[in-house]
Amino acid sequence: MLKKVLVVITLCLLVGCGKNDNELVLITEAGFAPYEFYENGEIVGVDIEIGKEIAKELGKELVVKDVAFDFIINEIKSGKGDIGAAGMSINDERKEQVDFSIEYVVSNQVVVVKNDSNIKSIDDIKNKTISVQLGTTADLYLHENYKDANIVTQKKYLAAAEDVKSGKSDCIVMDELPAKELVKENPELKILDGILFTDKYGMVVKKGNKELLDVVNKVLQRLIDENKIEEYIIKYSE
Ligand code: GLN
Repeated sequence: MLKKVLVVITLCLLVGCGKNDNELVLITEAGFAPYEFYENGEIVGVDIEIGKEIAKELGKELVVKDVAFDFIINEIKSGKGDIGAAGMSINDERKEQVDFSIEYVVSNQVVVVKNDSNIKSIDDIKNKTISVQLGTTADLYLHENYKDANIVTQKKYLAAAEDVKSGKSDCIVMDELPAKELVKENPELKILDGILFTDKYGMVVKKGNKELLDVVNKVLQRLIDENKIEEYIIKYSE
């Protein structure tokens, strides 16, 4: 029995259990329009379009897996997924765990409040209750720089939006384009003028997977040169 189990484990380590060689598994968190979100039960968006191009280049079929944002890096580290693509900002903490592609989007971090909020400026949030998505750069940034704030971490932006609508929280700090989509869906919310900080998105692969990273970079560079990423953003922001 033990021998059998060991054989299975060894095989799994060698070939990657449950993963098909003809598939490219993209790990994301599909609550981040226009980059990844559900439309008629299917996950679509900018990162998915890019993923399809990468899969095409590799002659593989794209499989998209939706997990909590703070699980994405682990899925890649453990080999359960090949590429992490989730509007993921490049930073040093993450670079220690996975390898990043070239940058493909520049993103601003903005503040979302209720229309009738008494917070009038992004300079007024230092000692407020602020909702963020767990494990995001907004979460990290606020914990480092806004020590007097009360930070509420949520697994989903929708929950963060509910916090603000119900008055549990004063605002959300999040990426600008997803904030615009959130505000479209929730007319009682608005984005304040100004940006807290700017960061750049990259896709991630397992550390040392240069072969895949080279293909990801090649496809990203082509899509950037052909202005396709801008086109995808426009298409999925409509
Ligand atoms: N860009 C932010 C980050 O990388 C948020 C990404 C997201 O929530 N999908 O942390």
